[in-house]
Amino acid sequence: MSREDYEVVIGLEVHAELSTKTKIFCSCPTEFGGEPNTHCCPICMAMPGTLPVLNEKVVEYAVKAGLATNCEISRDSKNDRKNYFYPDLPKAYQISQFDKPLCENGYIEIEDKNEQKKKIRLTRIHIEEDAGKLNHDDFGGGSLVDLNRAGVPLIEIVSEPDISSSDEAEKYLRKLKSILEYIEVSDCKMQEGSFRADVNVSIRKKGEKKLGTRTEMKNMNSFRSIVRGIEYEIDRQIDVIESGGKIEQETLRWDDVSGKTFSMRDKEDAQDYRYFPEPDLVAIRLTEEYIANVKSSLPELPESRKQRYLDKYKLTEREAKLITASKYLSNLFEETVLKTNNPKAACNWILSDISRILNEKEIEPNEIPFTSDNLAELIKLIEKGTISSAIAKKVIEELFENPKEPSKIIEEKGWIQISDEGAIKEIVLKILETNPQSVQDYKGGKDKAIGFLVGQAMKQTKGKANPQMLNKLFIEEINKM
Ligand code: ADP
Ligand code: ZN
Ligand code: MG
Repeated sequence: MSREDYEVVIGLEVHAELSTKTKIFCSCPTEFGGEPNTHCCPICMAMPGTLPVLNEKVVEYAVKAGLATNCEISRDSKNDRKNYFYPDLPKAYQISQFDKPLCENGYIEIEDKNEQKKKIRLTRIHIEEDAGKLNHDDFGGGSLVDLNRAGVPLIEIVSEPDISSSDEAEKYLRKLKSILEYIEVSDCKMQEGSFRADVNVSIRKKGEKKLGTRTEMKNMNSFRSIVRGIEYEIDRQIDVIESGGKIEQETLRWDDVSGKTFSMRDKEDAQDYRYFPEPDLVAIRLTEEYIANVKSSLPELPESRKQRYLDKYKLTEREAKLITASKYLSNLFEETVLKTNNPKAACNWILSDISRILNEKEIEPNEIPFTSDNLAELIKLIEKGTISSAIAKKVIEELFENPKEPSKIIEEKGWIQISDEGAIKEIVLKILETNPQSVQDYKGGKDKAIGFLVGQAMKQTKGKANPQMLNKLFIEEINKM
């Protein structure tokens, strides 16, 4: 049997660090990095006798996330202790939520491979605290613990096993990430671990009703490794089954370098964690009014922005979808349009050169080092004819390397467009002299010859000559001949 005979089943558990200023149960800062063990206090260091106090913002952000993903919000919720021992968890338990999560029964809509809308159901969203971090490498022999991250608030978003391919998994994660960015509850910086996924994968023979045994790859934090990991697991599981074996339910580690998964441990069950209600915290009760208030504070979501771009800026469906997929791109677009009144140009630059460079550099839109002021100025410089679009492409590259005002860049690099009619005419005459064939071609009705001549002139001036002016002067001069 081959891959076509199997169906893939994927369920994702996403952890997103919330961008509250302070931690979930104390007032230490949540800021990423910092000298080890400088963002902590007796509470998040788990000193005996300390007591946690729930940060109200954490509840608000989780409810926001729930509302933005079509969840039911629990009026009655609580925290539970999840007991396990690990050196980065000094309390030997994590305060999480077990049987009464804040949000349940939501969904996120993606497009499947036939561009049909598909709902991925969310089982739940709950709040919990992050653990510290072990540093293994820098200290000959031992490992040291850094508790700066201990107590940073997380939401865990658990999907139903509704995802059927690595492609759908990526689409789901991108959509979820974009929603969390829009509602500003998490910065979702994957390289800093503020948006990471546990990836559960199983396979079953087509037509089979019962789910296959799943394996779980922990803490994946790049789209590329998630896709690669899923593809690897599908092939591995099919191989095991085809050769008469059985899939073990286990926790795996994906290794990006070898491109393989490795077994970490047997999968633990809920009972291994000996969950019980957290005795040091009161239950969480939310009123209708509270939920209504949070709802009214939600900002405009991608779908509605997209519609606005279609109506107001006349973007195509595809353009509007690509830009609104990222809040950062969408903001960059809107700010640039405000400053230039040129939506078409803003859209083109963002979707062509800027997106291409983001891809090449493998960076996210929120890491774009220049501002909408810079992009707006660039567009105006082209409109005024100060630079050609060929030069503008070089300016965009430069903006990624050394961001500063485009006018400064072109001045420093000597990229100002030659728009002096006398200077351009000189170039035109020289090119005409050395290309008599093109002159004949144009006179013989081949309009394309002008394009060739303009190209020659651009080459000679390293893209600095004003192309409209070249065009006009070439025609004028040939007609005089
Ligand atoms: P935990 O991993 O913490 O024990 P669950 O048992 O609730 O939690 O499952 C976690 C995730 O695994 C969910 O996203 C769920 O959709 C997914 N999942 C459950 N069973 C399967 C399966 N057979 N194949 C793929 N994913 C699964
Ligand atoms: Zn603290
Ligand atoms: Mg799990």
